[in-house]
Amino acid sequence: MNKKKFSVVIAGGGSTYTPEIILMLLDNMDRLPLRAIKLYDNDEERQGRLAKACEIIVREKDPSIEFVATTDPETAYTDVDFCLAHIRVGQLPMREKDEKIPLKYGVVGQETCGPGGIAYGMRSIPGVLENIEYMEKYSPNCWMLNYSNPAAIVAEACRRFKPDARVINICDMPIGMENNIAKILGFNDRKEMTVRYFGLNHFGWWTSIKDDDGNEYIDKLLAHQLEYGNTLPDEGNNGDYTDNSWYETAKKVKDLTAIDPTMAPNSYFQYYLFGDDMVAHTNPEYTRANQVMDGREKRVFGECARIAEAGTAEGTSLEIGIHASFIVDLATALAFNTHERMLLIVRNNGAIENFDKDAMVEIPCIVGKDGYEPITIGTIPTFQKGLMEQQVAVEKLTVDAYEQGSYHKLWQALTLSKTVPSANVAKKILDDYIEVNKEYWPELK
Ligand code: NAD
Repeated sequence: MNKKKFSVVIAGGGSTYTPEIILMLLDNMDRLPLRAIKLYDNDEERQGRLAKACEIIVREKDPSIEFVATTDPETAYTDVDFCLAHIRVGQLPMREKDEKIPLKYGVVGQETCGPGGIAYGMRSIPGVLENIEYMEKYSPNCWMLNYSNPAAIVAEACRRFKPDARVINICDMPIGMENNIAKILGFNDRKEMTVRYFGLNHFGWWTSIKDDDGNEYIDKLLAHQLEYGNTLPDEGNNGDYTDNSWYETAKKVKDLTAIDPTMAPNSYFQYYLFGDDMVAHTNPEYTRANQVMDGREKRVFGECARIAEAGTAEGTSLEIGIHASFIVDLATALAFNTHERMLLIVRNNGAIENFDKDAMVEIPCIVGKDGYEPITIGTIPTFQKGLMEQQVAVEKLTVDAYEQGSYHKLWQALTLSKTVPSANVAKKILDDYIEVNKEYWPELK
């Protein structure tokens, strides 16, 4: 029987991740056959810098696939089965401000954790909602697979403003860490592991890792982490790290696990639990946003220009975004009812028994034709529960601030963030953010 062919739109088509996601989709056509790939962005010039190269890549792989790059929502969203959403409202120059403003006051400057994530969340909410509305209008049966950050705040906004939308919020961070963990434990592939994990986005813990015979590996992992973090003892900085900061992050897991040696932490806890170390090791004049603009962005745009000029992608240095194959796993599970077990960001609804039922939590779910079914976690310990309650309040207050245009709610969100030392500092950061976000945030009173 011929498999159905699907039409996908990539929202945020101008993202530097777009070419490698297209290469990944083309590499997975046996699992998810495609009839159309569309790029949609609200910045024609930026998307245009990638579109020609993407068109050439698609045509050379399979000329029967229709390719469209557009800034018209109707053209983009008509007749699509899946929307892969990775938008960045305000783009990298605003990320730079998200990161640098808190650092001025000695506070963590990161795109999803602490004040940076709050500022970015206030911008992302309307962008993601707008794309959901286009999807619902032009292709009501489409699924949006949303990995636009800051995923926790975006997911809370989806729960609140679009509770019935066909949107699934997912993050690649636990997947990246599971690739590392699989190596540490000697598995060939992370998919050989069945994991239990709970928390919020960029804020969770692994509590069990089993092989197909049901053998438990969590104690082996914890013993390793207490000695080496998530690095391999003999790899030095030569492992699969895109740069030194990811190596340092993998090493820092050692300190995180030491705080509670009964479960394996997400490495983003370094920003919440060792904020002072993070600030001490960050150059406030040159942050991650600068690295991406000077590195990845120049490299990808440059290579796309070369492909467009040459008229062929032969010999390209662009690589398949293998890390992004979770998107195909998710689309395939929805399309073909595979019942794949995946970590998703979903309404708690009792899955974590002693936690707010309306919190958006990151937990394993079984994905099939009708969407997802969360797996029950049970009760969680006081330390994790306390941290999560504080952080989920930050995320909810941010969405309150957006909804009500409330200065006080956003001040409270910043004050409550574990990365901010006082209401005084929170107010300074907030006032600076308001100044630079006038074009994006609702007016706050
Ligand atoms: P980028 O700035 O390179 O590209 C984002 C694109 O989104 C830009 O071209 C921009 O014009 C476009 N955009 C902004 N607002 C839009 C809107 N309302 N509608 C359509 N397009 C819009 O950003 P990037 O570094 O590639 O990151 C993109 C997003 O994906 C970010 O949110 C990033 O954090 C996220 N991301 C998520 C994961 C994950 O697993 N959760 C992994 C990687 C990246």
